[in-house]
Amino acid sequence: MERGSPGKGLKRVLILGGGFGGVYASRRLGPAVKGRTAEVTLVSRDNYFVMTPLLFEAASGVIEFRHAVNPIRPLLCCTDFVNATVERVDFERREVYAESRAGDMYTLPYDHLVLALGAVTNTARTPGSEHALTFKTVHDAVRVRNRVIEAFERADAETDPARRWAQLTFVVIGGGLVGTELVGELTEFTGHLLRSYPRLRRDELRLVQLQSGQRLLPEMADGLAAYTEKTFRRRGVDLRTGVGAAEITPGGVRLTDGTEVEAATVVLAAGLAPNPVIAALDLPKDKAGRVVTDACMRVPGHDGVWAVGDCAAVPDADGNPYPTLAQHALREGKHLADNLAAVLAGKEPRPFVYKTRGTMAALGHRRGIANLMGLKVWGFAAWWVWRTYYLLQMPRWERRLRIMADWTVGLLFRPDAAKIDLAPEPAACVHESPAPV
Ligand SMILES: Cc1cc2nc3c(=O)[nH]c(=O)nc-3n(C[C@H](O)[C@H](O)[C@H](O)COP(=O)(O)OP(=O)(O)OC[C@H]3O[C@@H](n4cnc5c(N)ncnc54)[C@H](O)[C@@H]3O)c2cc1C
Repeated sequence: MERGSPGKGLKRVLILGGGFGGVYASRRLGPAVKGRTAEVTLVSRDNYFVMTPLLFEAASGVIEFRHAVNPIRPLLCCTDFVNATVERVDFERREVYAESRAGDMYTLPYDHLVLALGAVTNTARTPGSEHALTFKTVHDAVRVRNRVIEAFERADAETDPARRWAQLTFVVIGGGLVGTELVGELTEFTGHLLRSYPRLRRDELRLVQLQSGQRLLPEMADGLAAYTEKTFRRRGVDLRTGVGAAEITPGGVRLTDGTEVEAATVVLAAGLAPNPVIAALDLPKDKAGRVVTDACMRVPGHDGVWAVGDCAAVPDADGNPYPTLAQHALREGKHLADNLAAVLAGKEPRPFVYKTRGTMAALGHRRGIANLMGLKVWGFAAWWVWRTYYLLQMPRWERRLRIMADWTVGLLFRPDAAKIDLAPEPAACVHESPAPV
């Protein structure tokens, strides 16, 4: 399937990936160039943009899944949108091949190509990772929610204490931001769930977090990591630092220290791997598999190819790549739009320079940690800043109001235990669960 030709004298800009990098680049570039120098098309697998920091509360039911995302089309002005999965890129022919959910094949020619396809969870590092859940997409968040509730249902019906114990053991592998925020949210969510299962006791519930490094949150200051560890231990989290997962099995995890944890639910949140489409491209990459760019986000040796966000290694002033964070991806996206508009108008692009403003994490139970331009904040204040910041980061007031409504209702009522299966057969989730140990 071919899309219409661009107007006379106009270039075609193709942006791949509707995440922070791709959406913010499209929003800025479309109005800047439409009808003057180029026509912009965004291609993405999902027709919504995911505000990833809100996925934790979506999984626990504090906010609706739909409210953690934003439909892409209303976000775009002057940019065409193709809802399809990119399969491959032919740099010689300057074409991208993509397939829609309905099976329609698209051939999309370009003059400028922006790679913003993000990354995927690194499952290659841990043997047996097919037995674990991941936490990267909305689909992952739905599955984690359903698995946790399913474990409670099974434990409630279980008479054997050992099997019941395994059902109520939840292991999160990874002590970075995603693993830690997930554990924080699970401490609150599982605590609320217990109220719906009066036959289950709090002391039967076990949340294990594995961090192969010596402390949680290597990306945060020592004091904030120490606060997090203390908070988690006080909540009863079995936090194990300096030990990783040697293998994930159908019944739990074998640890690098030789011990085993029997658990029906294991979530892998330990690092990123390249998006498979990016991995297959013959482009310069760094050792993490990210596409190497210059400071203006152009891919050296490939005229008209640009990259942003988690799939790109954009160098800072010292030559080190910027971290794989939303705050960088969205600013890179906007800056790339300015650079592309400049190049299309025959001007010079400018290097991307950004100083990290801070890092924040929510820890559940209305607690958080934040490093705000060197100022360390923790507890309720950090959690409040975290919520306010991400609320304002969510594009469109319609979405913000829905989130605020969810949060307000959440002050009055606890999250429920409704498990909405996506598969037509309600038994699907049971099949997905590991065999009882
Ligand atoms: C749970 C979670 C919480 C996070 N919290 C924070 C936080 O609090 N603060 C922070 O700064 N960062 C956070 N991050 C990191 C942040 O989400 C990423 O750095 C950011 O999303 C990167 O943006 P991106 O545009 O490069 O990629 P993404 O946002 O991942 O977007 C990639 C896009 O490409 C699309 N895509 C992928 N493959 C294809 C294909 N083959 N064809 C078509 N489309 C495709 C995807 O559907 C997606 O729309 C978090 C990440 C996760 C997983």
